[in-house]
Amino acid sequence: MELLNGKELAQEIRVDIKTEIKGCMIRPSLAVIQIGDDDASNVYIKNKEKACQEVGIYFRHFKYDDDTPELSIINKIKELNNDEYVNGIIVQLPIPEKYNEKRILNTIINSKDVDGLTDINTGRLVNGKKTLVPCTPLGIMTLLKKYEVELEGKNVVIIGRSKLVGRPLLSLMLNENATVTICHSKTADLAEYTKNADIIVVAAGVPKLLTGDMVKKGCVVVDVGINRVDDKLCGDVDFDSVSKKASYISPVPGGVGPMTIASLLSNVMTCYNNKK
Ligand code: NAP
Repeated sequence: MELLNGKELAQEIRVDIKTEIKGCMIRPSLAVIQIGDDDASNVYIKNKEKACQEVGIYFRHFKYDDDTPELSIINKIKELNNDEYVNGIIVQLPIPEKYNEKRILNTIINSKDVDGLTDINTGRLVNGKKTLVPCTPLGIMTLLKKYEVELEGKNVVIIGRSKLVGRPLLSLMLNENATVTICHSKTADLAEYTKNADIIVVAAGVPKLLTGDMVKKGCVVVDVGINRVDDKLCGDVDFDSVSKKASYISPVPGGVGPMTIASLLSNVMTCYNNKK
């Protein structure tokens, strides 16, 4: 069994981006809009800020109280759309339920949508067109490519159908000619699908959902989950039992997480370079 070492690959990507930015006349920049004070969001935003600072991307954080009128947020996004010094825009999810998430996300101009979540960019991905791809699925594809995991003609099972992970990954895998099955909480018998899979991506947010008896020998397993159990981070895969059968497996931490951040930095650079 070999580890899909996202930490190492992410570091390589960050070094390349840092070098590229040293040669830039104007610094690339990322703007993050936050509504409310969600604890997890505060941590994720801090991590993004740290990664941006490390490579030289100018990071701007706009934090709004959850009683801010939606129009003020929409107007801020429009201002950032028109600001030639802003290359990427993120609205940190989740946002409080009273806001119209779709309307807010769709206000982001497609060329700065570094999370790949506007309807237009989502549609382009589904249709196999070049577009900005959500960071976690992009990170997973980059990781599999690095380890030369063949996708064409393979049986891929994705557990989880969220718009941030499962759904875009389905399109990316299909675009690579994999045969893709997507499972979710209403799937009657998960093991029936995973046992035949060459590649399994687990993004459910359920600790140890995938166990060794559910996989075939030699499969490739990507663990997206981030769970806190007894104050320790763990994924959605029972690492001990699955790693005995898998040929490749991504660890938590050190697998998909660092790749997600590296992909965000890559997407900012894509926007920056597209503007030239
Ligand atoms: P999400 O929006 O909550 O979606 C979870 C998906 O898993 C849903 O489609 C749900 O099915 C499915 N699911 C839940 N329980 C299941 C079960 N017992 N069997 C089969 N499917 C089940 O979550 P998400 O945003 O995609 O994130 C998933 C996990 O990945 C979380 O732990 C999150 O923290 C982590 N994550 C990690 C990164 C990273 O960078 N490493 C990035 C994003 C997310 P239904 O649709 O039927 O409800």
